[in-house]
Amino acid sequence: MAQRWIPSVILGDIPTVSCKIIDMKNRRKSKNCIFPVLLCAFFLSLLPRQAFAVSQWEIDEVKRKRDLVAEQRNAQQQIVDNLTGEQNSVIDEKLALEQSVSLTREQIDLNNQEIALYDGLIQEKIAEVEAAKALEDEQLERYRVRVRAMEENGVPSLLVMLSESDSLRDLLTALDDVGAIMESDRALEDQYIAARKAHEKKQAEYEEVRVELLAHKSVLEEERKQLELQIDTAQEKIEELQQQITENEALVAEIEARWQELDQRVGELQAQYEKERAPGNISGDGFIWPCSANIITSLAGTRTHPVTGQERYHSGVDIGCPAGDPVWAAASGTVSSAGWNGNYGNCVMISHDNGYTTVYGHLDSIAVSSGQSVSAGTTVGYCGSTGLATGPHLHFEIRSGGDFLDPLDFFSGGSFVYMLDA
Ligand SMILES: [Zn+2]
Repeated sequence: MAQRWIPSVILGDIPTVSCKIIDMKNRRKSKNCIFPVLLCAFFLSLLPRQAFAVSQWEIDEVKRKRDLVAEQRNAQQQIVDNLTGEQNSVIDEKLALEQSVSLTREQIDLNNQEIALYDGLIQEKIAEVEAAKALEDEQLERYRVRVRAMEENGVPSLLVMLSESDSLRDLLTALDDVGAIMESDRALEDQYIAARKAHEKKQAEYEEVRVELLAHKSVLEEERKQLELQIDTAQEKIEELQQQITENEALVAEIEARWQELDQRVGELQAQYEKERAPGNISGDGFIWPCSANIITSLAGTRTHPVTGQERYHSGVDIGCPAGDPVWAAASGTVSSAGWNGNYGNCVMISHDNGYTTVYGHLDSIAVSSGQSVSAGTTVGYCGSTGLATGPHLHFEIRSGGDFLDPLDFFSGGSFVYMLDA
């Protein structure tokens, strides 16, 4: 028979090495081992009555860590969201600035067109002023020639006019003609001067407008420059925020990976937890273990009864299952009895096709009825302490004909924890 091993994780540092290994061959005649077993049971009774590889506490602990990591991730994500929000508003500001600069450029273009228009007008006026000056100069020259001629031939000329005039009337007429010619010349000159001055005035007006347009152009150019500077600043801010967003997103991803790891661990632990507590978690020779607990609190065989104090034969094993835990049919068969059964309390018996009968005692409640067919793993009732019992446990028997067999003999490959009642 294989030696049964009590995991050292359960024993911890308890100095009871002698009872770490219980030789099953000698377990019924273990008087020389009774003291270490009692000591062992005493220390074990101080430990939580939990004998699974995965406990709910462990799952809760990993969940707690996972949830803390989730909080960190959410806080980090909030930072990313805030930065993104800030960046979006800077992007909006930049778009508005770009629209303004676009409008300013259009205004500058219009302004340039106006300046070009006025440049044309001014050029026209310059040409007109020059033309007027030329006419003026010509006329002035003509007038000068005439005056010079008159000066050179002044008196003789008058004498000629006198001699050549037939009458005073003719002379006066001649003199009037000279005067009229002079007046006409002067009038023409005045007219030319006036035209030139009008052109010059217009040119000056145009130039004044052009100066105003140039001044406006400078203002617009300054505006454009300022807007472009603001756009550059906004762009820098967007890039700076992007860098921060990228860095913080990397942190979020890192934390998320950690969260995924923990979440996966929770899933694995839960799956293991459920597997350990599912029917068939411990399989034996033709039977499955009848409950999720693997703590043996009393062996089959002769023992001192904890309540009566009498030495008597114990017809099965007691399994330390928590009250309310499901109790499963150890194999398929038919329920031969289900109900109150004296010291057994609420008790279920199942007849199996292979000739064995299994018995489940001290049930808190019964979930099957007599005559019912069950499969291995069908819940037949719930762990309790009805009948003659000091606390919640399952009394489990395997019978063959009229004989009581040791159920543990059918589960030689099972891993059990022995927390034997004194
Ligand atoms: Zn019992």
